Amino acid sequence: MDLLRVDDRLTDEERLVRDTARRFTAERIAPHVADWFEAGTFPARELAPELGSLGLLGMHLSGYGCPGAGAVAYGVACRELEAADSGLRSFVSVQGSLAMSAIHKFGSEEQKREWLPRMAAGEAIGCFGLTEPDHGSDPANMRTRAKREGSDWVLNGSKMWITNGSVADVAVVWARTDDGVRGFLVPRGARGFSARDIHKKLSLRASVTSELSLSDVRVPSSAMLPEARGLRGPLSCLSEARYGIVWGAIGAGRACYEAAVEYAGSREQFGKPIAAFQLTQQKLAAMEIALGQAGLVALHVGRLKEVGEVTPQQVSFGKLANVRAALDVARSARTVLGANGVTLEYPVIRHMTNLESVLTYEGTEEIHTLVLGEAITGISAYR
Ligand code: FAD
Repeated sequence: MDLLRVDDRLTDEERLVRDTARRFTAERIAPHVADWFEAGTFPARELAPELGSLGLLGMHLSGYGCPGAGAVAYGVACRELEAADSGLRSFVSVQGSLAMSAIHKFGSEEQKREWLPRMAAGEAIGCFGLTEPDHGSDPANMRTRAKREGSDWVLNGSKMWITNGSVADVAVVWARTDDGVRGFLVPRGARGFSARDIHKKLSLRASVTSELSLSDVRVPSSAMLPEARGLRGPLSCLSEARYGIVWGAIGAGRACYEAAVEYAGSREQFGKPIAAFQLTQQKLAAMEIALGQAGLVALHVGRLKEVGEVTPQQVSFGKLANVRAALDVARSARTVLGANGVTLEYPVIRHMTNLESVLTYEGTEEIHTLVLGEAITGISAYR
């Protein structure tokens, strides 16, 4: 599989990252992930130091204990992690591309020294609180407020659907101030700050998702990220995380494709393997094409990012196209497995339902369509 041999274009270093991540997921994730999914748990505390020791946390950031890997190496790691489960890739994305990247881009020297080395090592976990119960696609209307009181800031509000929320040692919380939207580092245990897990999810079950509540949470002025002003702060972090999804989605799609090829070769009906039927081959060929195209898009966007030329619109293109492609592959693979396609004995339905969240978070399918629509027509159609 991989008829286009996209991976032949990777450097030796990128292939090493790929193989390291593959080995880790084969040994540490694959044997357990269906059980975690079924139980609705994710052993974040246990896995974080292991991911850190492999250099997978904040791997594309430089300094402060971060590996400083290239964009494609980071993308390849996301692809391999998501081939195990989108929940694992989400953990790594939120830690590296959202929480650490916010501190790395916008933090003071003191904040960077305090948090980044521990987060890179997986000794401290971060989360990123932007979405609110009433404001998802439209964060500009957020209600969470931070008010000055003497030299402190006092935060009030709530954040919803926050990955890693209840396991985080530090929450990057975005709040409205008299000076526009600003970011704050709220440590676990701050008085008035609590996190409650969201249950009953049928997607990304092997991932911690929480609601954050902030009730008169007092933090010192040194808790504000000094360099983030306005929504551009959180939006630039989201663009980093979306880039990881451009690659990650391919991993989830590939896992479904591989399961379908294997199943089609061994399952017999009407006296021959179902792989011998033209309709099955048509499905497999469509999967190969979709994933080959997605791989080329990811590699192209990654190489542009490495030379500092990538635009947010190109990342939107990749996120929208590749998640859609992976979801189509997953749904088609599900049909190849027949009734077995609906059980957790096979990875397909787990990936398929996970991808429903991936389609929605970091900008919904509709919002990225509007980003492209604006790029094409010059007309903004959001409101
Ligand atoms: P809404 O914004 O209410 O949208 C509902 C529907 O309306 C969507 O189809 C949307 O596309 C459509 N819509 C909205 N506006 C328009 C428009 N102008 N034109 C056309 N259609 C429109 N957030 C964080 O801050 N941090 C996290 O760590 C995080 N983790 C998440 C983990 C999971 C498992 C999930 C499911 C979500 C997570 N999110 C997180 C939240 C996620 O980013 C939001 O769910 C997403 O931005 C969409 O917001 P919403 O759910 O409020 O949907």
